[in-house]
Amino acid sequence: MTHPTDGSCIFCRIVAGELPCFKLFEDEATIAFMDINPVNPGHALAVSKGHWPTVDVIPPDILAGVARTAQRVATAAMRVLEPTGVNLLQSNGPGAGQSVPHLHMHVIPRRAGDTVTLNWSYTPGDKAEIEAICHRLKAAL
Ligand code: AMP
Ligand code: ZN
Repeated sequence: MTHPTDGSCIFCRIVAGELPCFKLFEDEATIAFMDINPVNPGHALAVSKGHWPTVDVIPPDILAGVARTAQRVATAAMRVLEPTGVNLLQSNGPGAGQSVPHLHMHVIPRRAGDTVTLNWSYTPGDKAEIEAICHRLKAAL
């Protein structure tokens, strides 16, 4: 399967293997990896391999694949991390808080008393902690 790509896009570069990621899963049309600025421990992203910025332009079957991958990661997070809940969030356009214009769905484990809001600010996470959670989730996928 060939994917449309944009050489200046950070997620296209991850898909191409030009930039590193803590990879959880991939199939023909999608990839899942840990968010490098986790709003909560276990924050992950389900991403289309092809470069489509937003929900209105991505082919519906690829969007369905992203949802399937997000479901898989969310299920592993529920089992392994035992959060109080999980949010799936997909943003379209800067006005909705989208900072990377390549379609992705956030998988966000929630904790009682966390301070997560709809548009949070991005703070780099501890790489060792992100990697450790990546391994635990991967084993449950
Ligand atoms: P959004 O603001 O909805 O477009 O989400 C983009 C997400 O991508 C943010 O949560 C960022 O922390 C995350 N992100 C940006 N660069 C990377 C990267 N190199 N590896 C993993 N996650 C990233
Ligand atoms: Zn891209």
